Parts: sequence; C-alpha cells; structure tokens
Amino acid sequence: MVRSVEDYLESLKSMRPNIYFKGKLIRRDDKVLRPAVNLICRMFELANDPKYRDLLTVGGIDRLTHIPQSPEDLLKEQEMIRFYTHKTSICAIRCGGQDCMSALSIVTYDMDKELGTDYNSRFRRFLEEFQRRDLVIPITMTDVKGDRSLRPHQQSDKNVYLRIVETRSDGIVVSGVKHCITAAAQSEFLVVVPTRAMTEKDRDWAVSFAVPADAEGIKMIVSPVYPPQQRFLRCPYANYGFADSVVIFDNVFVPWDNVFLYKEHTYASQLARLVALYHRHGYTGCKPGLGDIIVGAAALAAEYNNVADRETVWRKIVEVVVVAELAYAAGIAAAVTSTKHRSGTQIPNEIYVNCSRYLSGINVFHEYQVLVDLAGGMAATLVSEEDIITPAQEVKDSIKTYLRRRDDIPIEHIHRLWRFIHDRTCTRFGGYWLAAAFHGGGSPIMEEMAIRRSYDFELRKKIVKELVGIV
Ligand SMILES: Cc1cc2nc3c(=O)[nH]c(=O)nc-3n(C[C@H](O)[C@H](O)[C@H](O)COP(=O)(O)OP(=O)(O)OC[C@H]3O[C@@H](n4cnc5c(N)ncnc54)[C@H](O)[C@@H]3O)c2cc1C
Repeated sequence: MVRSVEDYLESLKSMRPNIYFKGKLIRRDDKVLRPAVNLICRMFELANDPKYRDLLTVGGIDRLTHIPQSPEDLLKEQEMIRFYTHKTSICAIRCGGQDCMSALSIVTYDMDKELGTDYNSRFRRFLEEFQRRDLVIPITMTDVKGDRSLRPHQQSDKNVYLRIVETRSDGIVVSGVKHCITAAAQSEFLVVVPTRAMTEKDRDWAVSFAVPADAEGIKMIVSPVYPPQQRFLRCPYANYGFADSVVIFDNVFVPWDNVFLYKEHTYASQLARLVALYHRHGYTGCKPGLGDIIVGAAALAAEYNNVADRETVWRKIVEVVVVAELAYAAGIAAAVTSTKHRSGTQIPNEIYVNCSRYLSGINVFHEYQVLVDLAGGMAATLVSEEDIITPAQEVKDSIKTYLRRRDDIPIEHIHRLWRFIHDRTCTRFGGYWLAAAFHGGGSPIMEEMAIRRSYDFELRKKIVKELVGIV
C-alpha cells in the first residue's frame, strides 16, 4: 500500500515530542520542520498518482519500501530517485530506510546460515511492517566518532559510538550519539546500523536494531534548512527542505524482536559496507538529478542573457552534463552487472557504484562554479522580493532596467530564475548543498577506500606483465 499524506501527518502528530531546536523542545508539526515534512508529503502525493504507478510502486507497495530482486529493480530505483529529485529540487529523502533494509536482508540471512541465529525472521517481520505501513525511516549510521584515530573501545567517552550497555532477558539497552541523520525528525522508526568495521574488543558496539523514533530515551537536536520563505513570490521548490539531527540514545530499550545484530563484530563491516553501497547506488540517481537542475538553471541563465550559443558558455554547461550522465551511466552499469545474493536480494556492482559517487562528489564544487559563473553577480546581490514586486514608486522603472535581459523574456521570469540561483548558491540552504553533495553517502575518501578494497589490481598487473614479457 502507498500511504496517504493525511495518514503520515496523523502519525507524526501522535508521536511523543523528543526533538530540540534552539534549546527548546518542539513538536513534529512545528513550523521549522514544515519544509522537511512537506518534502516527504510530496513523495507520498506523487506515489499515489496513477500516472507514476509503474515508476514509484511495485507489486502494490511503495517502491521505496521494496528490496531489489533483479537488475530491473535497481534500474527502476535509480530512475525513481532522479525523478523525485526533479520534482522537489532536493532528493528521494526516504531512500535511506530502503537502503538499510536491503543491507539487512543480506546480512541477517548470512548470519542465520553461518551462525544458526534467527535474525532473518525478525528482520522479515519488521520488513512486513515497513512495507504494510509504508513507514518513513532514515539511515541512522554515522556515529559522532570522537577521536578519529581511535577505535570505539579505545575512546575516552564510550558513547561517541553507539553501544550495548545492558543485556536483559527481554532485549538490550543501548546508549550513544549519532549525527548528520537526515530526516530523523520526520521519521517514525530509526534503523540503526554500525558506521564501521569492529574488532573483537569493539563487540559491544557491533549492534543493529529498529526502534520507534520517539522511544523512551531517544532525543534529537534538529538542524532544519530550507530556502528563504518569501512573502509574495511562491515557487514550488521553496516548499521543501531538509532537517538533519544529532540523535541521542540515552539508555534506550530495544526488544529482541527488533535486534538484527548483537555483538557479532565480524558482520559489522559487511553491514556498514552494504548500507553504504545501497545508499551510494541511490546517489547514482539523485546526483544526476541535481546535475540536471544545475544544467537547467545555468542554461536558462545563459539563454535569458542571450549568450547561450557562445562556445565559452556551452562548453562549461557540457562539462556538468558529462559528470551527471557518467554518474548515471555507472549506476546503470552497476545494475546490469549486479549479482543475486542467496537471500534473493540484488546487489549492485560495488566498483561502478563507488566510481559514480566519487565522480559526483569531487565535482560538486565545479558544478556550482559553472552556475555561479554563468549567473553573474546578480545571483549574489539580488535585491529583496519587496524591492522587485512592491518597489518604492521612485525606483519602479529602474527595477525593470536592473532585471532586464532579452526583450522577449518577461521580467518576472528573470526574477524567478535568479531568486532560485541565489537560494541555491548564496544562502545557508545553498551552502548546505555543497557539503551535503560532498559528504552525504560517504565522503570521496570513503569511495576511494571502497574501490581500493574491491578492485582487481592483480588482474591489471598481470595484463601489463604479459605485455612486457614478465613471467
Ligand atoms: C548533509 C548530510 C547528510 C547526511 N545524512 C546522513 C544520514 O542520513 N545518515 C547517516 O548515517 N549519515 C549521514 N551523513 C553523514 C555522512 O555519511 C558523513 O558526513 C560522512 O560519512 C563523513 O563522516 P563525518 O561527517 O563524521 O566526517 P569525519 O569522519 O569527521 O571526516 C572528516 C575528514 O577527516 C577524515 N578522516 C576521518 N577519519 C579519518 C581517519 N581515521 N584517517 C584519515 N582520515 C580520516 C575524513 O576522510 C574527512 O576528510 C550525512 C552527511 C551530510 C553532510
């Protein structure tokens, strides 16, 4: 079932307030969270639209709750995420829950086969609930990590990585702090996974589970970000925003039914790696989608300025196109060369996925450079909407002169486009995008490490040895 917007909003309203903003406890219907909540509502609206049924649903459920079973599923997911990015100018914010579930479908299966545990049946029960209720779930992975040179058990503050503090007959108790958790404040459940490989001494930190986002002991400090809200100018993109949270687990009880990894430290790295892999596969859809938005905005600015046919202009735009489409193409390659795990879950090709995310990550600043370059100084210095829409009588005509580009382009269109570019490049929302597109899903260094780990360098050395006659 794809749930309705009303059902989602009702569910948020019924949750225990445990979110803090600027030192105060707020409710989930607080206006600072509205743009982030709107983003998720828009996704439910689209998924309920019969026009998009084939793309956004599968077998009667929301595609964002489906575990990929084939290369076609992976291809559709990628296309769906690019689509959601176009419709909101943000992304398919709900993909994180799906990524955790895909990874858990594999790791719980392997553990049961290899250790004789019953994690997979627990996981299946939770998956059924996730799909039936079409739940909103973020990736709750990134620990605050403290001293980056130390492992969890070596840290002076043991809570810098989330850990098991007590084992009871009916479940476990966990404490610790995670950060950068996108959409935690708009979610109903958290699925917690380790952020890194764990050693034998880190067994208490090797844990994965699902827990209601308002469970006793969970507190979130939220950091909402959205485009400046205008008084007169209404634009669809300005309705949507993000809200990331520091998520504090203060002696949170989790019943055994919802525990999917308990101290099996050797499986922590497989789980962390697979969550990252599925999430980066999502990025093969959303980063090209964001590239489309930058290309569209840059091309329109050049067109309105009447310089779109100059080589110095279109060559810059084509550079952004190449990065976006190569990142997308690598996502297609990752699906086409994906493999089927014995659980039935389809695993995208790790090399192609990481190459895609790496390429997008290292080009973020250059993409913005192209947009800032082609939009000119007005993107930074644009005057207020009041001075454009309701200017003082004495400057009314000069405002038109200020904005005017090609004679056949209405002044209002110029204002709308440059307001968008301004919001996207010169505000807190704009700056946020740079860091988000660089670090989200794992910083480029992490893709480098993943490539180094999985790439067959020996094969390449052998090729050259043969060529140069080394036996
Ligand atoms: C907008 C945004 C949204 C995000 N959403 C989510 C989310 O929904 N869920 C989630 O779980 N995470 C999320 N993240 C977290 C993201 O995955 C991390 O930011 C990323 O993995 C980097 O971790 P960090 O921020 O703790 O950086 P750090 O670990 O502090 O890294 C900072 C720098 O130090 C380097 N460094 C760190 N440790 C070492 C080391 N041992 N040796 C050498 N160099 C080192 C890194 O390479 C990097 O260059 C999000 C991040 C952003 C920016």
